[in-house]
Amino acid sequence: MAIRMITSRLSHSSSSSLAFLFQGRNSRVAATAALRYTTAAPIAQDPIKPSVNVEYTKLFINGQFVDSTSGKTFPTLDPRTGEVIAHVDEGDVEDINRAVVAARNAFDEGPWPKMSAYERSKVLFRIADLIEKHNDEIATLETWDSGKLYQQVATIEIPMIVRILRYYAGWADKIHGLTVPADGPYHVQTLHEPIGVVGQIIPWNFPLLMFAWKIGPALACGNTVVLKTAEQTPLSALYVSKLLQEAGLPEGVVNVISGFGPTAGAALCSHMDVDKLAFTGSTDTGKTIMSLAANSNLKPVTLELGGKSPFIVCEDADVDQAVEFAHFALFFNQGQCCCAGSRTYVHESIYDEFVEKAKARALKRTVGDPFESGNEQGPQISSEQFEKVLKYIRSGVESGATLETGGDRLGTRGYYIKPTVFSNVKDDMLIATDEIFGPVQSILKFKDHDEVIRRANATKYGLAAGVFTKNIDTANTFMRALRVGTIWINCFDIFDAAIPFGGYKMSGQGREKGEYSLKQYLQVKAVVTSLKNPAWL
Ligand code: ADP
Repeated sequence: MAIRMITSRLSHSSSSSLAFLFQGRNSRVAATAALRYTTAAPIAQDPIKPSVNVEYTKLFINGQFVDSTSGKTFPTLDPRTGEVIAHVDEGDVEDINRAVVAARNAFDEGPWPKMSAYERSKVLFRIADLIEKHNDEIATLETWDSGKLYQQVATIEIPMIVRILRYYAGWADKIHGLTVPADGPYHVQTLHEPIGVVGQIIPWNFPLLMFAWKIGPALACGNTVVLKTAEQTPLSALYVSKLLQEAGLPEGVVNVISGFGPTAGAALCSHMDVDKLAFTGSTDTGKTIMSLAANSNLKPVTLELGGKSPFIVCEDADVDQAVEFAHFALFFNQGQCCCAGSRTYVHESIYDEFVEKAKARALKRTVGDPFESGNEQGPQISSEQFEKVLKYIRSGVESGATLETGGDRLGTRGYYIKPTVFSNVKDDMLIATDEIFGPVQSILKFKDHDEVIRRANATKYGLAAGVFTKNIDTANTFMRALRVGTIWINCFDIFDAAIPFGGYKMSGQGREKGEYSLKQYLQVKAVVTSLKNPAWL
């Protein structure tokens, strides 16, 4: 919803900087003049001290914060510096077992699936209210742990989280089956029932937003949950676990485990008493998760995976507007978006003008401390991701693409990378085929629509696409021809709770958000009753 507000404002102000979006509301620090990234000053300064304490670091099982069975902890780091924020209890197989027992009891014995749908709805509304009330603390923790812009989290993501939870609170008492006119003297109906204990695994790029995407529909349908957060970003979900309790969510209905993928994550996927899995993350890990599910109890799996989304700028597009949106589509969230518009295809008639303007826009991008109001870009999440992005940049140079700007780290500490733009990119270069997950824009040239459709589809991914054109016939052609789960036409990254999201091809299975996600968390029972008096059929 909030991103829609942003983009509609952009359409009236195509040449303006996105920096204005992050100024104003909820800022915990004084706004300072935004500095261009070519000045390393903001990063050389001491990082701004976050104004919260980390209170919740244990595992959340059966409504309580508890130690990990092994007693082990792991550090969670500040991406601005690489320094330790806190040590967090490390969940492993035993802890997953405890959490699944709690979730199973809450499902089989506890009140949750048996509670009236209206009561469940009220609990979800209360969770949303409490998250809204604690916006500042949550946004501060999230920024500290992930390097995401404070303004983005506080004014875009948390309102989206609240909207998601309210949206699914609204669904809870509107889920029902059908009466089916089958042939024969039978009354036939379907019951839409929760699946049971749901295992959910989320990534680090939108930690709390993914938490809400996952628990919202699962809970609305009456399931119970064991959720593993990403090892890079455990803090915000633990804070919200306390709010779940405060909202009156019965114990064991949601259990939150911090820990690593191959240990806690794999144990959850292989568990024989977990009835369904939902995962957001990389395509490779998605494959592992499916095989763990298949090799245990054949639990159904929803996957939201990687992407290499084309952003297509047609010959009739408003160039300034398209440049701004293409910039946003790629650089938003430090480029760490599964649906980032990471292949910018531009028609040859406007290519040179577009490249020049895209370069100028990247040079204007303000990079620095994510707590500082006015900055548009913070650090990458971790040293691994930072190194990976720099490696892709080197490969772009080596493969002969033209480095228009950026291409290096920014400052000397933390994981900041200069906004990078490549032109003259060819389809077979690694920067055009692989998901980079960083602030690296690749601009490719095309001649005609059929050609760009073929090239845009020539990928294993199929998550999203952007198309910029003023011609309705062109828009209609692209919306049907592109094999992706979401197409944004003359906009990008519109993420309302009601809009389904998911991938074609190796970008995933199933849909999240909207009414469609409810299907992933329900099973259908057919009930056939013999009719005593068939005359009334
Ligand atoms: P990234 O490489 O960007 O961290 P992943 O897809 O590996 O992306 O991670 C997303 C989530 O998947 C994280 O919560 C991570 O711990 C989890 N994960 C990673 N490997 C596994 C695995 N083998 N089994 C289950 N979960 C995993």
